[in-house]
Amino acid sequence: MRDKRDGIDSVTARVLDGTAVAAQIRAEVAPAVAAFTARVGRPPGLGLVLVGDDPASGIYVRGKLRSAGEAGLRADVERMPESTTLEQLLGVVDRLNRSEAHDGILVQSPLPASMGPDAERTVFDVIRPDKDVDGFHPVNVGRLVQNRAALVACTPLGVMELLVRSNIRIAGARAVVIGRSDIVGKPMALLLLHRDATVTICHSKTAELPRIAAEADILVAAIGRPGFVTREFVKPGGTVIDVGTTPVRDRETVTRLYGPGSRRLEVFDRRGSVVLGDVHPEVADIAGALSPVPGGVGPLTIALLLRNTLTAAHGVMVAGSEATSAIAARFGDAVLAADGSVDRAVLGRVVFADAGARRDLESIVHPAVHRSIVAGLRAFELLGEYAWAVVAVPLLFETSRATDYDRVIVTTCAPALQRKRLMARGLTAEAAEQRMSAQLPTAEKVARADFVIFTDGSFEETDRQIDAVVAALSSDL
Ligand code: NAP
Repeated sequence: MRDKRDGIDSVTARVLDGTAVAAQIRAEVAPAVAAFTARVGRPPGLGLVLVGDDPASGIYVRGKLRSAGEAGLRADVERMPESTTLEQLLGVVDRLNRSEAHDGILVQSPLPASMGPDAERTVFDVIRPDKDVDGFHPVNVGRLVQNRAALVACTPLGVMELLVRSNIRIAGARAVVIGRSDIVGKPMALLLLHRDATVTICHSKTAELPRIAAEADILVAAIGRPGFVTREFVKPGGTVIDVGTTPVRDRETVTRLYGPGSRRLEVFDRRGSVVLGDVHPEVADIAGALSPVPGGVGPLTIALLLRNTLTAAHGVMVAGSEATSAIAARFGDAVLAADGSVDRAVLGRVVFADAGARRDLESIVHPAVHRSIVAGLRAFELLGEYAWAVVAVPLLFETSRATDYDRVIVTTCAPALQRKRLMARGLTAEAAEQRMSAQLPTAEKVARADFVIFTDGSFEETDRQIDAVVAALSSDL
């Protein structure tokens, strides 16, 4: 529909349907979840933590639980009372960090004010980066800055999916993000930048905000002020993404924005509140494309949380990761599955017959695995705990990473026993021999270690050596 208002050609904006795009993403996630479950013997798991009784947070968490269940993920919620202390919350995060059933951890914000102004940051700092499905840990934020992140904040990631899948041109476009929060505005601006948009970030101190916003081909509003973005903020024909979701409980605001007799007012009168976006309804007459509230960015946030949980469960060879891109560049796109992750079965066939190819693969995968281990260690450091990592020998010595650790403890046994153990795991005598000859000789491993634990004897004997190493380390470090 077209008319002339204020001398500007007016059209009704195309609605960017977040619910439909979210459904598409869930449909992609579901078979990958099923494949993971069949291969690993358990579904990818998400641990949610909800502190206090903020009604909106309760609704969000219920939505996340339901969607996770529908997608075949395991999701558990830890509900903690308003009176919970920061230490108690950190204890729960620590348990989830160690849990083998939980690949992703999400602590719902906001946290109760009684926990103090820095509580959220403290909590995000201690979540293991490889389980940080919200993408808020400083390690993941740093990786996002460098455009090599695997786990990125779900809401801005959802906006990118909405833009890309709605065929909105991003490269070369002028993008303006209003809002500079750590969880929406900043990651949003970085994601747009990495897709080659020219990005401006605005905030409450920005001078001439409407004029700057009106230059945008893509305008993202992440402010939290209902109806703030009026038509003077919008370039005719531009794309407007409304991230804002503010629960409104006064009738006057709804009447002012939507008018008497509007559907919104009807909903308000029935429920006593409505959730409103940052974008004024009049913008629909000037924008080329517009994401609605509700039904825009909200459903995408949840869909991307499910995908991030799957990503965390898969580890390093996931779609879009640095290792996956390097593997595809070396071995071709044929080794990628439909979801963009590495198809290990296909890759296995390629490298099995070719020692050179195997070495190439190791030179890509080992450093990537090692980086994720180090990121996990950093999380423990931030917690103030001394961290121990169990690292395969090739990862430690062949990648020359042993110096990243304060002390190296090698466990080993006599070659005959090693051969017997490999064969007990199903290898033929020949394969066991091949495996052993490909490894660093025991004497060399022992020479490089600070401590050695020999596992030839009984469990009690091994235990005794472990106790001795722990005692020596406690006085040494
Ligand atoms: P936030 O931390 O409160 O940040 C709001 C940002 O808006 C700040 O950077 C602030 O600037 C800026 N701002 C406030 N008033 C302004 C003004 N008058 N002019 C220009 N800028 C102004 O909020 P957030 O966590 O980023 O969330 C933003 C909105 O998105 C909220 O409505 C939230 O509910 C919604 N949200 C939705 C989803 C979803 O799934 N759909 C997810 C997350 C958030 P200063 O930095 O200068 O203060």
